[in-house]
Amino acid sequence: MLQIPPILPAKRPMKPLFMDVTIMPAKSTPRPPQLLLKLRADYPELSFVESGQFAWHAGKKHVSYQKERIEEERGVWAILHELGHALLAHTDYESDIELLQIEVAAWEKAHELAKKYRVRLDQDYVEDCLDSYRDWLHVRATCPTCYGRSLQTDRHTYSCHNCGAIWHVTRSRLCRPYRRKR
Ligand SMILES: [Zn+2]
Ligand SMILES: [Zn+2]
Repeated sequence: MLQIPPILPAKRPMKPLFMDVTIMPAKSTPRPPQLLLKLRADYPELSFVESGQFAWHAGKKHVSYQKERIEEERGVWAILHELGHALLAHTDYESDIELLQIEVAAWEKAHELAKKYRVRLDQDYVEDCLDSYRDWLHVRATCPTCYGRSLQTDRHTYSCHNCGAIWHVTRSRLCRPYRRKR
């Protein structure tokens, strides 16, 4: 059965994120936001693709973004973060610690990009995102038997030095920090 999508109210213009002079496009010719135009021009080797989430797809060299969030401040931070992964050529990670390290590196790159595009990037927000990874890591690395802190032995396995317990973890990341609502 066909469903007619509801007509959404027009969004109010947000406060500008960029210090450039922004020329509002005519209503009849919607254009992608300024930042996206600049990113596409500056990084022709990458594709910026509309999707349900912000992500970096190393195989396809796609930086995906949520269209409805790209003009929000956090949407801008998210796309700079994913572009950070892209420019650092992040592909895969072998351990949870390494995932945390590449997250830190991607945010450092996002700070450089924020300077380049003259966007404010809130370090408190970055720390919140990294904390959510640190919390996730802490949960995974805590022994379910004795609550000791343990070491990862391979991608899917942790073992406890204290009591000898071994447990397995999946690669799911539980949450994408920039989706967190506050
Ligand atoms: Zn990331
Ligand atoms: Zn233990």
